[in-house]
Amino acid sequence: MIENAPARSLHAIVAGAFLLSFANAAIAEDATEALALWSPSLHRVYLAYQPYHAALEGYARRQGFHGPFERLGTVVHEIIHLDSFRHQGFFINGSYYEPYIKARAWPELTNESVAPHLLSRERGLVFDSYIRHAPKNHLGNIADEINAYGHVLPFVCQHEPASTGKQVRSLIGFLYIVEGYLRTLRTVMPDKYQKLAARRETRGALILIIERGWAALRECGIPDAAIPTYEASQFITKARLTVPTRDLQER
Ligand SMILES: [Zn+2]
Repeated sequence: MIENAPARSLHAIVAGAFLLSFANAAIAEDATEALALWSPSLHRVYLAYQPYHAALEGYARRQGFHGPFERLGTVVHEIIHLDSFRHQGFFINGSYYEPYIKARAWPELTNESVAPHLLSRERGLVFDSYIRHAPKNHLGNIADEINAYGHVLPFVCQHEPASTGKQVRSLIGFLYIVEGYLRTLRTVMPDKYQKLAARRETRGALILIIERGWAALRECGIPDAAIPTYEASQFITKARLTVPTRDLQER
């Protein structure tokens, strides 16, 4: 979850964990049946990665996810990363949205370079567990995390509400990081902010993913006051007033 960075490193985790976790492989049938009813597209992508289930299940347990729904949610979260990477597009409800995390498509700002600009409220759980350990990752990677949480969190909230605290905190934490990225771009790199707001693919995926993240938290009963929206709302307004371009190579 928040520890993982790109899908590439996840493959290594999966390979290493595969044999170790085989013994406690079974994911509760009730949970997978509930997933099939709740979201056919999530269930389809879950089944498509069947050979990974045992390893990801072990990974979820080691991350402290023990309830059947939060464990399945964690497995699906990781599968969303894997499937997005494989298609080089963000998996969103069974469709794929460019540009995924290709660095050239995103502003030249990394976790390492944005870190000094983050406010104290943005330096929480996710900052300690992710940002400092993935210095070269960028806004596209943050969107990748929000997308994965945004898909599975409502499922876990609906079926196992008592075990959602960690995932809620992580999603809020990643939305705070987006706030930090957007504020830094707006105030320190206005040309890059302008390009992000104008580039059709990047802004489209980012806005969709952020709004889905907000919706996921609201579905879990999180009050609006606890959801970071200030910079992202400004960005969305600006993007909607800006004529879009398709130039992915442009910086
Ligand atoms: Zn993740």
